[in-house]
Amino acid sequence: MSKLLSDKIIQVLLPLPLVGVFDYLADENLNLKLGDFVTVPLSGREIQGVVWKLSPGKKDVPLTKLKYILRKSELPTVPSSLMDFVQWVAGYTLSPLGSVLKMALSVPRKFGKEKKKIFYRLSTDVNTKLTTARKRVINAAVSDMPMAVRTWAEQAIVSEGVIRGMIKAGQLIPVKVSGEESFLEPDQEMPRATLSDEQQIAADHIIVKQRLGTHQTILLEGVTGSGKTEVYFEAIAEALNDKSSQILVLVPEISLTAQWLDRFKERFGAAPVIWHSEMTPAQRRRTWWATIRGEARVIVGARSALFLPLQNLKLVIVDEEHSQTFKQDEGVMYHGRDMAVVRAMQAGCTIILASATPSLETMINAENSKYDWLYLGERHGSAELPQMKSIDLRHHKLKSGSWISTPLQNALTENFKNGEQSLLYLNRRGYAPLTLCQSCGHRMECPHCSAWLVEHHKWDRLECHHCGFNLRKPEGCPQCEKKNSLIACGPGVERVAEEVATLFPEARLAVMSSDEISSPSVLKEVIESIERHEIDFIIGTQIVTKGYHFPMLTLVGVIDADLGISGADPRAAERTWQQLEQVAGRAGRAERAGRVLFQTYQPDHPVLRALISGDKDLFLEQEATAREAQNLPPYGKLASLIISGPDKNNVIIYCKMLSRSAPHYKDVKILGPVAAPISYLRGNYRYRFLIKANASVNIQNELSQWLAQITMKRGVRIQVDIDPYSFY
Ligand code: ADP
Ligand code: ZN
Repeated sequence: MSKLLSDKIIQVLLPLPLVGVFDYLADENLNLKLGDFVTVPLSGREIQGVVWKLSPGKKDVPLTKLKYILRKSELPTVPSSLMDFVQWVAGYTLSPLGSVLKMALSVPRKFGKEKKKIFYRLSTDVNTKLTTARKRVINAAVSDMPMAVRTWAEQAIVSEGVIRGMIKAGQLIPVKVSGEESFLEPDQEMPRATLSDEQQIAADHIIVKQRLGTHQTILLEGVTGSGKTEVYFEAIAEALNDKSSQILVLVPEISLTAQWLDRFKERFGAAPVIWHSEMTPAQRRRTWWATIRGEARVIVGARSALFLPLQNLKLVIVDEEHSQTFKQDEGVMYHGRDMAVVRAMQAGCTIILASATPSLETMINAENSKYDWLYLGERHGSAELPQMKSIDLRHHKLKSGSWISTPLQNALTENFKNGEQSLLYLNRRGYAPLTLCQSCGHRMECPHCSAWLVEHHKWDRLECHHCGFNLRKPEGCPQCEKKNSLIACGPGVERVAEEVATLFPEARLAVMSSDEISSPSVLKEVIESIERHEIDFIIGTQIVTKGYHFPMLTLVGVIDADLGISGADPRAAERTWQQLEQVAGRAGRAERAGRVLFQTYQPDHPVLRALISGDKDLFLEQEATAREAQNLPPYGKLASLIISGPDKNNVIIYCKMLSRSAPHYKDVKILGPVAAPISYLRGNYRYRFLIKANASVNIQNELSQWLAQITMKRGVRIQVDIDPYSFY
């Protein structure tokens, strides 16, 4: 017993959903500090957690019930800034601490001894004739530094097969090394672009702010092609002057940033460290280690990179800050951009939010001087912003089964004759969104979701875009059994491509959607073939809106500008405007002028008027006024509760319980429950509450008080979504 007296009770956070912090006894000799990794017993197994507080959590647990911490791990301690961040995110999103910690610790659990590995260095005599790919590898060498096969491939941007071929040919020589491979250091002294006056003013402003060494949020707004990237590269270079600094760049979709990565390498001489969820465990481990050791200097990643154990964060950049992909809609529902601002605030550093089409949230913070606001109004060099026009489909009627109107077809023909490239944009994957029986009207629906099955010619299947369920298109209608009566309704990119192929049989097409672009290397190939002008027409989904720069692309045709323009989502109009403005921004980025044509049935819609007049300020002002009148974000606060489960009755009963105990707070409105727009998803029935509150309300407090009164029900899941961005 005397041992117990000298030992301390401390709190350990375990990376488990639903549960959080547990009390354990700590042997004094362990000498534990906050953030230490420890192994503890939990219901018969051993689990790794983090020392969260050096004091007991619960007062009333009898000592005899407490278990001892088994051991302390060799891992470096979790930086306190990451602990603070985990705590903050959990509180804000009303998620269990353990779930948030899990995002931060998805890596180091499986740590063994560091193994010896084989890397490769360039042979001294490689003077045989080389393929272009092999030449790239030679050029990627950094003196005689040995690198792993994967790194060679990454640095040279070739496939690993090329590297293996060179190993076989003796052009790369094996070397034994131990430990994780280190990353190349970016070099801020490399030659840089000469900035335009406008760009220089923006860069200077940012650097002055960085040197203050305090937290500051800067909106870097600039029309597409104005050189925002060049400007924030200067901020990265400034931050790199501090030899121990770390810089985090968040991008909406890391797999789509090949061109960006090339530019980074050109500017800084080395690729940045990459982080996203599709990396292999080995790649993740390497990045995680390099981050916690402070060796990773510039990390570019998806939103989850926010949870990396950064030691000395000096600059955060959120590129395309308006992008909805920053919002996580599963598990811990957080918004990567908003949490990035928090992370930067906790680190006391500068954060840059860059976009050609900033979100209303960010615009209003800039207008209220909460954020600094920099604006680049000119395209780089001689490039002009494209001319925009709408094609009124009420006058230019589409032929049945055709999606390209006569004016658009004429423009495409002219562009093709001039040897220039055209892009047709339709944000819909596959061939057709609906398959219908001509005879009985039966619609092909997913058995697990309330959604239509989308036809994909590519694999000859009908697929549910929500759960992935798919089947071969039946020969007859499953309901009335009539043969050959199923017809495709509406277009997807595949169908538009089919039409283009019919109109221009001699043209070279590329379809860009997540179905065709299965990997970064495929994407790279497509992009390079567009750059080499081996493609005349690109038909793409929102994948093509992602910051690409194709000098010969001079015409953008939007197949359906009305798609997604209205709906239950309060940001529907704003988002449509952002997407269309971004896709329009692909046109005429170099010497040749660009133009954009929008096919629409509502040319007078504020979104289309904003695009065509270029008066986006007026549009945003109208949006802001409308949101303010309805007390919607960013003026008021929103939260959603999503109640779901496989037994509809249980879900409804649970909703009724929630409804009955709903509080009557002043300044808070609780709407619902209503069946969700997708009322059945992956075998679960879904209902929603929408909570609207005044800006002054602490919505987290109110919600947690409400939910605390209700006991959980088996088989019913409740998700809390603070600041929801999706409403399906
Ligand atoms: P944005 O991010 O604003 O869309 P980018 O940074 O991608 O713009 O710039 C558009 C194009 O112009 C890129 O090809 C970029 O290399 C080029 N560019 C921009 N600024 C400069 C500059 N100061 N010197 C040389 N090239 C530039
Ligand atoms: Zn489904």
